[in-house]
Amino acid sequence: MKSYWQNYIGGKWLDGVNGGRIAIEDPATAAPFAQIARAEPVDVDRAVQAARECVESRALLDLRPAKRSRMLLEVAAYLRERAAEIGRVLTLESGIQLEEGRAEIESTARYFEYYGGLADKIEGRYIPLGADFVDYTIPEPYGVSAHIVPWNFPPDIAARGMAPALAAGNAVVIKSPELDPLAVTYLAQACEAAGFPPGAVNIVCGYGHDAGAALANHPGVDQIVFTGSVATGRAVAIAAAQRLIPAVLELGGKSAGIVLPDADLEQVAESVKWGIFYFAGQVCSAQSRLLVHRSIHDRTVQRLRDVVAQLSIGPGVENHFLTPVICAQQLARVQELVSSGVAQGATAATGGSRAEGYPGYVMQPTLLVDAAPGMRVMREEIFGPVLSICVFDTLEEAVCIANGTNFGLCAGVYTKDLDKAHWLAARLVAGQVFINQWFVGGVETPFGGSRQSGIGREKGQEAIRSYIRTKNVGMRIVAPRGAWSAPE
Ligand code: NAD
Repeated sequence: MKSYWQNYIGGKWLDGVNGGRIAIEDPATAAPFAQIARAEPVDVDRAVQAARECVESRALLDLRPAKRSRMLLEVAAYLRERAAEIGRVLTLESGIQLEEGRAEIESTARYFEYYGGLADKIEGRYIPLGADFVDYTIPEPYGVSAHIVPWNFPPDIAARGMAPALAAGNAVVIKSPELDPLAVTYLAQACEAAGFPPGAVNIVCGYGHDAGAALANHPGVDQIVFTGSVATGRAVAIAAAQRLIPAVLELGGKSAGIVLPDADLEQVAESVKWGIFYFAGQVCSAQSRLLVHRSIHDRTVQRLRDVVAQLSIGPGVENHFLTPVICAQQLARVQELVSSGVAQGATAATGGSRAEGYPGYVMQPTLLVDAAPGMRVMREEIFGPVLSICVFDTLEEAVCIANGTNFGLCAGVYTKDLDKAHWLAARLVAGQVFINQWFVGGVETPFGGSRQSGIGREKGQEAIRSYIRTKNVGMRIVAPRGAWSAPE
């Protein structure tokens, strides 16, 4: 693997104008292993200019949509062919399990396939106004679509926005995350190989406070998509409001699964394993709270202890299931929140501290029992392998606890009673509700949040709406008078 990576601007691979570099660290060893060119505001400006030129030239817009569709399918094929290689890079920079790194590149490819399939089906309408008028709508791209990507699942999240944006005919500028930007650069390689015109795709890596802020505030940007923390999302929303451009915000979560007395505990156990321990719980849609009916609480906790005892722990490159968290700062944050939970009366039934014997940032898989609704561990996003478990007695109480945070990303229900499942699904404040399996869905299913979990929807057919605006064309028909004769 190469040790130095560049930004991709206007169809060229470039160093930063000021020559800066960002070191990329392996979370499993805490050692740097590569560098990437550091984009600063001047580089972001170049990237936006390149995207603007692509928009003004109509190079992408005037293509027959079927051609854009084929190019997106070629991007998907390029990524699939290299899924093992790119997945390994992702494992080294983000810590994710090797198998899951590869799977993430497959899911990244899926976005290009799905929106490649939609690119030639984005249609306007004919609106009848009577015999004297013709009226129709044109679904137009916004122009320059800016994307700021977080460090969890960067290729997947970059593709989630980029694929529908390109399908609709926008040019994109991606600001990749400073902690793990390397796998995302393959998206630019794939687009280059697929023949996207220069400037249609630009990918730069820089720090949030300068490159990210410069992109969010750039006057050449027409629409912005941000995925990350609530605090940064708010800053991006303010920047978008100042310029009156639309923003899609995909922010954090504190999602709760509700376990009813008749639940299949094997389904619950499997959903906990993936819902909170996959990628060490650094998933916006993680199942970070479990609300368990009092009658089955002890049995459920015992089953979950067994799950934890069977987890293999260690570096992603060795294919362990529970992998390190991304960096020292994140590990410290997870530990601080767990300590606050214990101080407020919760008990660590398993784990609770840093796992010893690993050079990297490994946190023990942690089950916090006796968690109560007011505790920080029940209200704040921990973003680590920590499940807060709380008892309830009635369905109304479960709804009240589940909805009792500032977030509204996901929720889940475990039961064989479909009446109760759908009764709860209707009342839970969440963009997506999972019944009997956490993370049900895929690129096909709309995803997004309520409250501070965000604004707008990504994935599925819904996402296309974020990347187009409707133009209406109306015409008055004047009936020909007298006999028509050809001009001489
Ligand atoms: P973050 O907000 O710190 O950073 C996200 C991105 O924003 C990074 O690229 C960063 O460089 C950039 N950034 C930082 N400051 C900026 C600024 N002032 N202006 C513009 N850009 C700036 O978040 P993070 O720690 O990288 O990601 C974790 C968060 O992302 C969690 O809260 C998680 O829940 C959320 N997330 C949400 C989703 C979703 O789809 N809802 C998906 C993944 C992650």
